[in-house]
Amino acid sequence: MEDVVKVVRPYIDLILPYLEEVRVAVNNVCSNLEPWQIILITVVFTLIVSWVYDFLFNQEESLVQRFKKAFFKYVKRLPIIKGRIDKEMIKYAKELELGYNKGIGPSGYLLHLPKKGLTADDIRRELQNYHSMVHTDWSKGSVSGAVYSGDPDLTRVLTETYGTFAWTNPLHPDLFPDVRKMEAEIVRMCCSLFHGGPETCGTMTSGGTESILLACLGYRNRAREKGIKFPEIIVPVTVHAAFDKAASIFHMKITHIKIDPKTMMVDVKAMRRAINKNTCLLVGSAPHFPHGIIDPMEEIGKLGLKYDIPVHTDCCLGGFLIPFMEKAGFSIPPVDFRIPGITSISADTHKYGFAPKGSSVIMYLNRNYRKYQWFIQTDWPGGVYASPTLAGSRAGAIIAACWAAMMYMGEDGYVESTKKIISTTRYIVQELRKIPGIEVLGEPLMSLVAISSTSFNIFRLSDALSERKWMLNPLQFPSSVHLCVTLLHTKQGVADRFIKEVREITAELMKDKDAKCDGMGAIYGMAQRIPDRSLVHEIVSLFLDASYNTNVGEPVKNGVNGINK
Ligand SMILES: *Cc1c(COP(=O)(O)O)cnc(C)c1O
Repeated sequence: MEDVVKVVRPYIDLILPYLEEVRVAVNNVCSNLEPWQIILITVVFTLIVSWVYDFLFNQEESLVQRFKKAFFKYVKRLPIIKGRIDKEMIKYAKELELGYNKGIGPSGYLLHLPKKGLTADDIRRELQNYHSMVHTDWSKGSVSGAVYSGDPDLTRVLTETYGTFAWTNPLHPDLFPDVRKMEAEIVRMCCSLFHGGPETCGTMTSGGTESILLACLGYRNRAREKGIKFPEIIVPVTVHAAFDKAASIFHMKITHIKIDPKTMMVDVKAMRRAINKNTCLLVGSAPHFPHGIIDPMEEIGKLGLKYDIPVHTDCCLGGFLIPFMEKAGFSIPPVDFRIPGITSISADTHKYGFAPKGSSVIMYLNRNYRKYQWFIQTDWPGGVYASPTLAGSRAGAIIAACWAAMMYMGEDGYVESTKKIISTTRYIVQELRKIPGIEVLGEPLMSLVAISSTSFNIFRLSDALSERKWMLNPLQFPSSVHLCVTLLHTKQGVADRFIKEVREITAELMKDKDAKCDGMGAIYGMAQRIPDRSLVHEIVSLFLDASYNTNVGEPVKNGVNGINK
């Protein structure tokens, strides 16, 4: 203690005279003020400081983001610019609607209920008409992701199961004990797949997005209980957009962490630097959607433990490949409950689990994490109300069909599908790397391969492939495209046909490297370069509007077309 005094003393002696000067100066300034004036000035000054602090720091978006938004908002209000934007938007919206209308057939849209109900035969015929609108035959393996199995035998099992449980609803577990048991079993089987002990638990949800929403909601509620007013989540830039959706819906700040441009894995050091007292969740993916790369979950888990922050592994995409990798003969770093620090995992049954769309699982380390996603209203006149997930009533038939899919596959089935899918992907990766002009992003260990090119605009390749009926996913920042390999791509000849066509097209493109890209590719390219993201936002919302369009341009007779003549 004496040592400290010895060191500090000279500094204090140095500062003291200045403090004395400040005191005299402040007293001089205040000497003409009455006490009430001093109090008022103090209060107003404090309020201003606290307002400025809030404005600068306590916001969902950073100062720069808010400044950019405000700037573009004012620019867009300038009459010349507004006029042009509006004109272009209207033209674009019409084009989108026309595009959709082209495929609907001659009978137009139904605008009202048929006056008389249709017979089962009529319905079947009408459904056939609708089904004939589909032009892309996914069963040939030409589509990235989207349909993960397509096995006709499994389809029969699923539809039969759906029929048996069509009217069930797990909101009434007393009425439907069958579905309750199936849901509990699905969650338990998934926990076991991810090496969770008997303490691990979870719920089923309607899909990966809901699993992620619930995890984020839970961690937000947990943080609030601990006294954090503005909980924040920290995610890699490559994390699924469902986390941004969660942040937006539940009013949380979300910080995106850069990735290593070589490995495409999150920069864990940057993640550590972003942690602050409001951080309520760290996230990594296994693998992430853009490039199919597994984030270093062990390191993220360590961060979580060190700073006492929960960690979520987004295993939505890889949920039914990851647990079978080892048995299928592939080794990957662990990403599950074996890693200390991992507190929750999301896994989609409706992707590689081959269950019908509308099912996913969210798992937690123990009930102390899960309880924060419960919603319980004790005072509702409709009765004490409790729901485990975002929905109220849920489709018991989807749970049953998911259960049936898992029974149908079994461990051996999933090991086999994992073997096929991973070996096909690795073959595609290996062959793509041999094509001059094509670069594979990172080292994909799972079922997804992303490619880019430094020689030519990669979207020219995806445009040319789409003319040959290959549908890949376009990616941005950096411009690239990916193929998500499903069971359908493992069929004889599919992978070779894909590689052959990429090789042919790329050779063609390399002859004129700087040629312009038009078609869909041009749109993806342009969308990345528009600095005003709110403009992109508006254009995309036109897309959503157009998909609900039922207007063919002319008034519809009787409001009913086709069916009820
Ligand atoms: C598909 C996916 C999700 C969730 O998507 P849903 O469409 O809601 O099922 C989340 N994370 C990753 C990595 C995904 O691939």
